[in-house]
Amino acid sequence: MKNNAGIIAIDGFSSSGKSTMAKRLARNLGYIYLDSGAMYRAVTLYAMEHDCYEPSGLNVQRLLAYLKQIHVTFELDADQRPLTYLNGVCVEDTIRSLAVSEKVSQVSALPEVRAFLIEQQRALGNKGGIVMDGRDIGTVVFPQADVKIFVQADAAVRAERRYLELKQKGQEASYEAILKNIQMRDHLDQTRSVGPLVKASDAWVLDNGHMSLEEQDQWVMEHVKQVLWQK
Ligand code: C5P
Repeated sequence: MKNNAGIIAIDGFSSSGKSTMAKRLARNLGYIYLDSGAMYRAVTLYAMEHDCYEPSGLNVQRLLAYLKQIHVTFELDADQRPLTYLNGVCVEDTIRSLAVSEKVSQVSALPEVRAFLIEQQRALGNKGGIVMDGRDIGTVVFPQADVKIFVQADAAVRAERRYLELKQKGQEASYEAILKNIQMRDHLDQTRSVGPLVKASDAWVLDNGHMSLEEQDQWVMEHVKQVLWQK
């Protein structure tokens, strides 16, 4: 049996546990993990920190003018946990805040921002041996991916998970505000004209609302093995 260095695309709804699943899968396979959402979040944080928000909202032209100065990179910490860096500064926790979550869908709907980040995602992933998660990985970034998984779960379950996650990190947030944010992002991500969140026709669907992490790992490994080990 041979484990080819494939490309695994994991797409799905906000806070559906894609990242946890993708990280665990990458570790099991010895692949690289790339969180494409972190890149959109980092661009959003840059916009927030560089005067791109006016009382009337996002100044798109200003953000687009800055785009080439935004460098998002990833480094592993001592526990092999991937951390996101924005122009050399670790922003892993800041980009997960509700303040960034509230703004990211507007930034990620901009075609120029998508083109800028997709080019980098392809450069990082096209040699294979990668698990990448996001919204458009199996449809736009790597339509030729070896395995595509589409993750979904009830919005209330997702909000509860996110709430506990933020609380654990010591970040203040209300369950209601998180649920509202998830519903808003679902809507914006599904209805934007460029790279909308949509299931690829050849994706496996996983509803993990009532699954333990171990059950999820088992489900994913079974599906991945079927494809990668048989090539
Ligand atoms: O995955 P995460 O929730 O961290 O992503 C944050 C936001 O980034 C999403 O709500 C979506 O607007 C955007 N995103 C995207 N395309 C991706 C990954 C994330 O538009 N491939």
